Amino acid sequence: MPGTTKRLREERLEGIGVCKGVAIGSAFLVDDPRGRIVRVFLHQEEVEAEVARFHQALEIAQHQLQDVRQRLLDVLGEEHARILDAHQLLLQDSSFIRQIEQFIQARRANAEWAVRDVTNKTLEVYATISDGYLRERSSDITDVTNRLIKILSGTNPRDLRDLGREAIIVADDLLPSVTAELDTDKVLGFVTNTGGLTSHTSIIARSLGIPAVVGLRQITSRVRTGETVIIDGSTGTVIVRPTPETLRFYTEQRERDRLQLLRDIEERELPSVTADGVRITLRANIELLEETESLHRYNAEGIGLFRSEFLYTQAAAGLPTEDEQFEVYKLLAETSGAAETVIRTFDLGGDKLRLEGFAPEPNPALGLRAIRLSLKLEEVFKTQLRAILRAAVYGRIKIVLPLISNLDELRSAKKILAEAQRELRENKIPHKQEIEIGVMVEVPAAIVLADPLAREADFFSLGTNDLIQYLLAVDRVNESVSRLYEPLHPAVLLAVKFVADAALKARIPLTVCGEMASNPAQVVILLGLGIHDFSMTPGAIPQVKRVIRAVDLTQAREIAAHALTLTTPAEVNHYVQTEIARRWAHFLTATTTFA
Ligand code: PEP
Ligand code: MG
Repeated sequence: MPGTTKRLREERLEGIGVCKGVAIGSAFLVDDPRGRIVRVFLHQEEVEAEVARFHQALEIAQHQLQDVRQRLLDVLGEEHARILDAHQLLLQDSSFIRQIEQFIQARRANAEWAVRDVTNKTLEVYATISDGYLRERSSDITDVTNRLIKILSGTNPRDLRDLGREAIIVADDLLPSVTAELDTDKVLGFVTNTGGLTSHTSIIARSLGIPAVVGLRQITSRVRTGETVIIDGSTGTVIVRPTPETLRFYTEQRERDRLQLLRDIEERELPSVTADGVRITLRANIELLEETESLHRYNAEGIGLFRSEFLYTQAAAGLPTEDEQFEVYKLLAETSGAAETVIRTFDLGGDKLRLEGFAPEPNPALGLRAIRLSLKLEEVFKTQLRAILRAAVYGRIKIVLPLISNLDELRSAKKILAEAQRELRENKIPHKQEIEIGVMVEVPAAIVLADPLAREADFFSLGTNDLIQYLLAVDRVNESVSRLYEPLHPAVLLAVKFVADAALKARIPLTVCGEMASNPAQVVILLGLGIHDFSMTPGAIPQVKRVIRAVDLTQAREIAAHALTLTTPAEVNHYVQTEIARRWAHFLTATTTFA
């Protein structure tokens, strides 16, 4: 059959490489972004136990909802707590329960699968109804069934945390919180249909050092569980069912990468100084506590960005306690030693994480995200600030506020910080009275207002990931527009120059902590625009340091000055690549990518 022959042939797909490295292994397909649902065919004698397991999960869910409701009531008030009433009612809905029981019995399916299937059918019906109330109910149903599936996966794990064997994960999408939980011993790499270089799922892949390619559009329909897959995270190439020659080529490439990693570690002590003697600071972006080890491995100068929102993925009701947070921040401060630790207050919302008690938003990137949510949830925000102030006794901690778009937000945050300090003082709890508070510059309005913001902020962190998204109106997680996501777009360069000049004028420090800080060609431009401080995923430090040590700052300034006169992204890209190749290619090793 022609169809069969075709399936057996090697096939190459091109996506967006988001974490470099080669992975070779057998595919494991998951079919929900939470990675929790795998189809299991039960033996007839297992069916009744599976129904009982489903009922147990219903009971656990009821108890959890009761607890969460109480917490939401205490912290956020009746309006948010009431959302959970609908969830509790659904868990008692006899028709819903009956349908799932029947599915398990008739299809001999595991409970997770049955819950998902019945839910999808219900949602399909709801989608055809134009009534707004019923459509809102869809998100309740999704939330409740996600909870049930999570419990089912936890009580008898059949999810990504318990793969049992090494595999390459193939999915339509993976949530950043799921990616953060992947078992790095078993997960060799992952590939997804959706996503972009700066989506938070990709950021987590880099922090875990798992080779990954996203934005492949159709990978889930091109590969079956068990088939061999090769991922080249540097080029974004994915090969399904490789021929023996291809397999040999990539096995050798994987070995070359391993040797390069050893060289990187050997070179960790080399100073980060440009060819003409200017010292450049290289710090680490940290998302997960496990990464603190890589801070030492690559000799990062402290933590330039701690994305604290990932602490909120595990805690009950998404709210870690003050003490839980204090312990984490203290550990970070101690890890950084004499260097700084910049803690970003929670940047929830957007493509990251939605807190329980909040309905999904039609346009999350422009919604109740980051500082906006913090100012709405004053008590939750203050709890975080208190934990930071207490931990600041143990090291050089600074606070940075995400998604600031006006001065009022900065001033309101400072007021809440002062209240947190007053409370700690009155209760005689050890804490730091003086703490620096900075602004993430990542919204175009903050660029325009860079001068007044610089007068009131202690420092700037330039978040190029969001800045590019908002300045160019290109969704950072949408692979359909990923070609338009251009870090070297002339508007981005002008915006960076504007904010760098404002920081210099106000004499406040500026760190670039978006992904531009880890791209060699873009670092040359940033150096030329006067930036001397970069924070990045620790694994990127060796290649950035190699660039810094090869580059002469005077020449970088010349390149940046000319780039600023160009008017299209293509012109800038071409010009920068040509200049780098002409001036420094021979200094840089072959493994340094300029893409
Ligand atoms: C940024 O936007 O550049 C940034 C560093 O923050 P995040 O990627 O977490 O939004
Ligand atoms: Mg950001």
